[in-house]
Amino acid sequence: MIEERIKSHIRDIPDFPKPGIIFKDITPILKEQSLCSAIVDAFVEKIGDLQFDVIAGIESRGFLFGLMLANRLNKPFVPIRKVGKLPHKTIQQAYELEYGSAVIEIHEDAFEPGAKVLIHDDLLATGGTVMASSMLIEKMGGEVVGYSFIVSLRFLNGWQQLETYSNNVYSLAE
Ligand code: 5GP
Repeated sequence: MIEERIKSHIRDIPDFPKPGIIFKDITPILKEQSLCSAIVDAFVEKIGDLQFDVIAGIESRGFLFGLMLANRLNKPFVPIRKVGKLPHKTIQQAYELEYGSAVIEIHEDAFEPGAKVLIHDDLLATGGTVMASSMLIEKMGGEVVGYSFIVSLRFLNGWQQLETYSNNVYSLAE
């Protein structure tokens, strides 16, 4: 089963990026070509019937499978990045972190107003990043129609917040 294969290729890194946090490292997945293909297949199977125009991937691990999935589904891919990384004109969104705040941005010509957007990231934790991304998509005049993650940490309750935007939340492993 895909969920078991994914879980067996995620390693826990204690105290990264700071003491007390156990980081879920997905890089072992990337070394397994057949697993990467199986992950894209599993997303296609889950998302297949969803109507959307573009996939927005969140920096940086959201780029890995976001682009592969977009390519497979013949959709455009657009990056959402931390402030200061995108070269062209951008639209920004600030959001609160546990300590302090952060800003993400997207190119102002990433998609046309009214576009239906699927947001993709590797992992859903508290949901803060993906909620800020949803606000950014709306600021651009887009409509968030779904979310896809390789892994979601359901005990952190990020999932419930997302449902204020869309009930189409797809995760391959929990
Ligand atoms: P959230 O905003 O939901 O709390 O955190 C999710 C964001 O932080 C995602 O962009 C994700 O890539 C990153 N992130 C937070 N914790 C982890 C983790 O344990 N493993 C991985 N791979 N990413 C994480």
